[in-house]
Amino acid sequence: MQLAREVFHRDAALARRYVELARRIAMRYNVRFPKKWKRFFCKSCGSFLVPGVNLRVRCTKQRVVMTCLECGRVRRIPYVREKKARRDAELKGEEEVQEGAAP
Ligand SMILES: [Zn+2]
Repeated sequence: MQLAREVFHRDAALARRYVELARRIAMRYNVRFPKKWKRFFCKSCGSFLVPGVNLRVRCTKQRVVMTCLECGRVRRIPYVREKKARRDAELKGEEEVQEGAAP
């Protein structure tokens, strides 16, 4: 996956191939994809996703909406941990919890 990221700027198709390979290997050995990588490829078309290039990220109040611009698939990720963090922050009187979008 690191390879995919490196190669993406040069060759998007190649990056996609790396994603495919990584997924296949993970499947064969019955390994779950690390969470930090899960967000970076599209489940339906297998594209390697780079925010601002082929991935649109929008934050609403309750969730992060990630749209794959290759196939148009939309993923919605509800805040869970962030919500709790915000609640805690509010209790302390801080008003600055704006994370979740940036990986
Ligand atoms: Zn896609």
